[in-house]
Order: sequence, then structure tokens, then C-alpha cells
Amino acid sequence: MQSVTLEEELEEFRASVRKFAESAFAQKASYWDEHETFPAENRELLAELGYLGLVIPEEYGGSGATLAHASIFLEEISRVCFNTGLICQLALNGPSRAIEVLGTPEQKQRWLPKCVTGEYLFGIGISEPGAGSAVTDLSTTATIDGDHVVINGQKAFCTGGEQATHVMVLARFGGAEGAKGVGSIIVERGTPGFDIGRPAPKMGGRGVGEVELYFDNCRVPRENVLVEGDPNSTKGFRVAMSAFGPERVGNAAMCLGVAQAAFDLAVSYSSERTQFGRPICEFQGIQWKVADMATQLHAARLMVREAATKLENGFPRAKEATMAKLYANEMVQRVTNEALQIHGHYGYTREFPLERMVRDSRGFALGGGTVEILRNTVAALVYGRSFNQRRS
Ligand SMILES: Cc1cc2nc3c(=O)[nH]c(=O)nc-3n(C[C@H](O)[C@H](O)[C@H](O)COP(=O)(O)OP(=O)(O)OC[C@H]3O[C@@H](n4cnc5c(N)ncnc54)[C@H](O)[C@@H]3O)c2cc1C
Repeated sequence: MQSVTLEEELEEFRASVRKFAESAFAQKASYWDEHETFPAENRELLAELGYLGLVIPEEYGGSGATLAHASIFLEEISRVCFNTGLICQLALNGPSRAIEVLGTPEQKQRWLPKCVTGEYLFGIGISEPGAGSAVTDLSTTATIDGDHVVINGQKAFCTGGEQATHVMVLARFGGAEGAKGVGSIIVERGTPGFDIGRPAPKMGGRGVGEVELYFDNCRVPRENVLVEGDPNSTKGFRVAMSAFGPERVGNAAMCLGVAQAAFDLAVSYSSERTQFGRPICEFQGIQWKVADMATQLHAARLMVREAATKLENGFPRAKEATMAKLYANEMVQRVTNEALQIHGHYGYTREFPLERMVRDSRGFALGGGTVEILRNTVAALVYGRSFNQRRS
């Protein structure tokens, strides 16, 4: 009997996720945007069906699927409902992946099973009001005090922070500067000294807001430290940041979903809309747009797949993950804009989802590392040295 290849298995998986996403999430996709409402019911359904634990190992109650599966899942969910895609991205490629790779057996047992059931939702707290691209300027401090760590500082733009039960916070241990001393700690909602702000209204992804996080002598048990920073070393920073490789690949996979949705609409609209007595797809000007969109989508999909497959110590390799995010972040803006253009004025109205897709796609080039910073990372890999050293 001929065995099923990985490619066939992944394509079957894609077909089943697509069917599920269309039946479960299509109807209210615009609702979450219009009402700026978190799609809690979608998250509950995802938890019920075990999808929040898709890539969490079976021993912690998950399905133990690969990052390639996670990428396809994120693409297909985001193709139908971007805000639900954001929820999945947090669950699949965010802190739970970091816990799985970096956590102690006790930490994994404590947090991962409840990520699978949806009881726990983890947000990410890296950015600060004064330290966005320059992550190594972060000023949130972590001071060890016996069995506890005391956190002081402020974080910004934490996606899903309003609903999060926990956040993975990057903070500086000891008095060092730059990348030295940085580590990562899990903080639970309700811990005294930890407050969560309200999301600011924004352009896209309006169902899942970003919030500020405030730490005022917040005492956290030391067993919540995921990566302990060493004031004499940059290792903690490098290890903590490597955990964001899956986030980059997932971010790129979501771009594929939004771009594919816009592309499909453009193909079908241009086949039906007539001007000058024929469907507009018969004009070479439209065909070339569609051909460029198809080619860019294909290239991005190959990059995402390669990045999801090439792993080092459980995380995607920096080069492939960075390039995939960079390319996909710009691809999705080009593709959604061209799809809107092909729809003419109809695409510009709220009666069609194109304007929402253009808005949703805009944040990709900022969140999880701006495209400028990603280019810096690629350049550093090319030249074999970093150009990001701080000028004082
Ligand atoms: C939708 C969304 C979700 C987010 N979610 C989270 C989250 O969950 N957790 C979290 O911690 N953060 C999150 N962020 C924050 C995000 O990581 C930051 O916005 C990003 O790192 C940039 O920081 P900044 O906005 O402060 O811009 P700045 O760093 O102030 O940059 C401003 C501009 O200058 C450019 N720039 C800065 N330095 C350089 C340089 N060396 N070379 C070239 N150009 C440069 C930037 O690329 C940008 O265009 C999110 C952001 C968005 C948009």
C-alpha cells in the first residue's frame, strides 16, 4: 500500500481547516471589526475542538502537530477571519511555544495543559513606551528577592492583554545595560502590583486590542522565571528573543491568509465585472496585476513553509523566519491594495471586505518587528555583524 506523503497529509489538513473556518467563522468575520469586539465565542469553539493545543505536545494534552501544520492552520483561519487568526497566533506560536522549548518540566506541566483547554491565554510584553524597535533599551526591571522576583516598569502594545490570564514579560535582571541581564518571566493576572490598561482604538485587527501593562513592585514567585537574565551576559536576551521565531513564521502565515482571501475575491470579481463590453479580466492590465499577486503569494508560501520546517533547538532558524516575515508583510499590503483596486469603488466601500483586509494587513509590518528592523537583521546575517549597537 502506498503511504501518504507529508505534502499530501498537509494538503488534507488544509482542506479540513478551510472547511471548518468557513463554516464556523465566516459569518461574523466583519462583526468583530465593526464592533471592535474580541471574538470570545470563536476562542471557546477552538478550545473545545482542541485547536488551541494544536502544536502543544501530546503529553501536555495537545495534538503535537508541527509548525508547518500551525502555519497552514493560521493561514486558513486568517483567510476567513483575521481577528480569530490573531487569537490562534497567540495560542500556537506565542508564549506556549517558548514555554515548551525553554520551560522546566514543572513549568510545562503547570501552564501548557491549561493553554490547550483555553483556560489560560498568554500575552507578550516586550515593547515599552520608550523601547520599541530598540528592545535592548527596555527599562522594566526584575530584582531577585529570596524566592521571588520583583518587577517594576511599564509595557506597551500587548496584543490580547485585555483578555490575557498571563503575560510573558521581558525584563532586566541586575543593573546592566543593553542586551545584558535581559530575561523572561511569566506574570499572572491578579498578581498584586500588576495592572492592565485599556486598548487604544486602531486601524485594523480591531477585534483584538493592544494594551499597556503596569508593574509596581509586582512580586512574582521565582519559579515563574522562564529565562533568568545574567547582568554579565547577553545570553538570556538571545535565548528569550529566539522564542519569537515561531511568532514571525505565524505572522507571515497570517499574511498569506489575508492575501489569499483578497486575491480570490479579485479573481472572481474581475471575471464577472464587465467594462467596455467584456469582463475586466480580459484586459492585460488586470491580468498582470493578478499574475503578480499569484506569484508573490506563491513565493511567500514557499518561504513560510521553509521557515516552519527548518528548526534549531525547537525554534525556526532566524534567517528563514525573518525573511519570511519581511517578504510576507510587504506582500500582503501589495496584494490587498491591488485587490481593492481591481474592485474599483466597490472595493473602497464597507459593503465589500477589501477595505477591512487593507486595514488588517497594515499592522503586520509593525508588530513582531518592523520591516525596517527585519531588514537590519537580514543585513546583519549577510555581513556577519550587527549594526544595531546603541549610540548614546
Ligand atoms: C498590531 C501590533 C501588535 C503588537 N503586539 C505586540 C505585543 O503583543 N507585544 C509587544 O511587546 N509589542 C507588540 N507590538 C509592538 C511592536 O513590537 C512595536 O510597534 C515595534 O517593535 C516598533 O516599535 P515602535 O512602535 O515603538 O516604533 P519605533 O521603534 O519608535 O520605530 C518608529 C519607526 O522607526 C523605524 N526604526 C527604528 N529603529 C530603526 C533602525 N535602527 N533602522 C531603521 N528604522 C528604524 C521603525 O521601523 C519605525 O518605522 C505590536 C505592534 C502592532 C502594530
